[in-house]
Amino acid sequence: MKIICIGLNYANHIKEMKSFKTDAEPVFFMKPDTALVIDNKPFYYPAFSKEIHHEVELVLKISKTGKHIDADFAKNYYDEIGIGIDFTARDLQAKCKEKGHPWEKAKAFDSSAPIGKFLAKKEFGDINNINFHLNINGNTVQKGNTADLLTSFDYIIAYVSTFVTLRQGDLIFTGTPEGVGPVKIGDKLEAFIEDAKMLEFDVK
Ligand code: MG
Repeated sequence: MKIICIGLNYANHIKEMKSFKTDAEPVFFMKPDTALVIDNKPFYYPAFSKEIHHEVELVLKISKTGKHIDADFAKNYYDEIGIGIDFTARDLQAKCKEKGHPWEKAKAFDSSAPIGKFLAKKEFGDINNINFHLNINGNTVQKGNTADLLTSFDYIIAYVSTFVTLRQGDLIFTGTPEGVGPVKIGDKLEAFIEDAKMLEFDVK
């Protein structure tokens, strides 16, 4: 399986990164399966970075193979929604950006993608109005709602599948809202969809 991540998909996060998009096309990158952390296992702070940032994101689970998927049919290609953290070595990413290099070192490292439980898509009333948030040590640091997505789930699937065949079990991280920031050893992260806690783990 593979993990596809959408970047810059909430306007207020683009502002906080002092980033910009030159057109309406989504930005995406990938993480390998070695990035996954499951079962609420701890995240071990890597030695190569001094600035690991949390990015809480809703995650789509792909349910069947598809390529060149039309946005009108995209809803048939994912059946579950969960939540995860797109951990980012912001210090390394800044250097990559400076040099115009790819981001993999900063984004795709081992354990950079903890994921929680998934819910069946049919359990959601309105896909375009899902609240989610991240608490660190009991304080809410990031809050999002899918109404603010710049690129909707359906169009993400259509766009990505133009370039990369999607397969059952692939995951798509759909972008982070504003409020990204550093984590430190000893922090407890808890991620929620609506009021349900879907993921919790410690930084060690
Ligand atoms: Mg992200």
